[in-house]
Amino acid sequence: MNLLKKGFKRGGVKLPEHKETTEHKKIINAPVPKRVKIPLQQHIGKPAIPVVQIGDEVKEGTLIGKMDGDFSANIHSSIPGKVIGIGDIYNPNAQKSRYIEIEFKGNIKYWEIKNSKWDLFSKDELLERIKNAGIVGMGGATFPAHMKYKPPVPIETLLINGAECEPFLTVDDRLMSEKAVELREGIRILKKILNPKKIFIGVEDNKIEAIEMLEKNSANEYEVVPLRTRYPQGGEKQLIEAVLKVEVPSGALPFQVGVVVANISTIYAIYEAILFEKPLYERLVTVSGQIVKWPGNYKVRIGTLIHDLLHDCQLFINPAKIISGGPMMGYSQLTDDTPITKGTSGIVVFSKEEIKFKKEKPCIRCGRCMQACPVGLFPNIMYNNISINDLQSAEKIGLKDCIECGACSFICPSKIQLVNYFKSAKLNLKRNISLSLNKIPRVKGFEYGKEK
Ligand code: SF4
Ligand code: SF4
Repeated sequence: MNLLKKGFKRGGVKLPEHKETTEHKKIINAPVPKRVKIPLQQHIGKPAIPVVQIGDEVKEGTLIGKMDGDFSANIHSSIPGKVIGIGDIYNPNAQKSRYIEIEFKGNIKYWEIKNSKWDLFSKDELLERIKNAGIVGMGGATFPAHMKYKPPVPIETLLINGAECEPFLTVDDRLMSEKAVELREGIRILKKILNPKKIFIGVEDNKIEAIEMLEKNSANEYEVVPLRTRYPQGGEKQLIEAVLKVEVPSGALPFQVGVVVANISTIYAIYEAILFEKPLYERLVTVSGQIVKWPGNYKVRIGTLIHDLLHDCQLFINPAKIISGGPMMGYSQLTDDTPITKGTSGIVVFSKEEIKFKKEKPCIRCGRCMQACPVGLFPNIMYNNISINDLQSAEKIGLKDCIECGACSFICPSKIQLVNYFKSAKLNLKRNISLSLNKIPRVKGFEYGKEK
């Protein structure tokens, strides 16, 4: 039956899913933390400018960082209390940022619907409200939403990304299963803004309840498209190819083929921002891993430290590895003193026994990485180029098109962490630096999963 399902054509891998631990766990609120460290840079673009000082009292949703120009995003307090510190911190994606530390004091706010007749707002008013609420793409890209949903040309299709193809992560699955009516309202808001002719939601076929609930509550606003479960189905270009049979050319953006892609969590944030006038200061996070006593899908306040969240979920033993996001495209954390941000969809922890550090062996030219690459690149050849410090040749054969999905590393029998070399090489090309391989920061080989 799978053969009949839609899916991207080129490459990809079948991963062990590990979603069973949390896929049926209902969304619950994480305990309100006693303090939060809220980064001013949680998005692509310029960091927000702090508008509070140490000693200031804030409420839940108070603006604490004002966007610096249009390519930026507002930042709001996620708890009521007092500003007790301003400093520097590393985000989960290792990006350095100023942060504002707030100590909890006061009462939690109950948000009520203020704008049930939101359809009286103009398209520009809706975008302005989304901008003021500090909404960014919550699938990981963190692109400011008011810019993404204002494409320079009219679009044909709004494509909702419900694939959630990363192992362990289940927040979008739960949102689609539990909040289908609210999501439909969020989709209607985007429909008014973008005026697309067609709206599709692409969902991997391992999310049976989500597909049922979305179909049941569609009210003919959108069409649900079940997709073959294959990684990386949730990549924007892969999703467009799978649902619309349209290939986005190298270097082009989806709007150039008439498509805007929206993430499920982002749509839910838009729903809350427009109907409740609630800024984006909390998000859903899957906390998972065999050593977590209370794994689940938690509504977590932005700025909550990973340490505090894991303390609330309780671990049986100390973790040997903490990943923010999923194990394929997420970020290993050097410390648990790192805050949850608008882009954090999951925290996955592993024990020492679960992770296998394998020494990289020489490439045996088996070609499996080429077969797995969803972009159609030659990972082994790019790796060879990078090995001899020839970044320009790697660039010529498509290094910049690499979506850093890690499918090649996963499949490589020599355990070469190809994606890490590509990430470093891309960064160096951006900075116009030429480094020899032994100077490219090495990451210990982490073999995710057992099935190949
Ligand atoms: S999968 Fe690994 S060993 Fe095989 S060709 Fe690619 S890099 Fe070489
Ligand atoms: S990480 Fe890059 S090269 Fe490797 S499979 Fe993904 S897109 Fe292809």
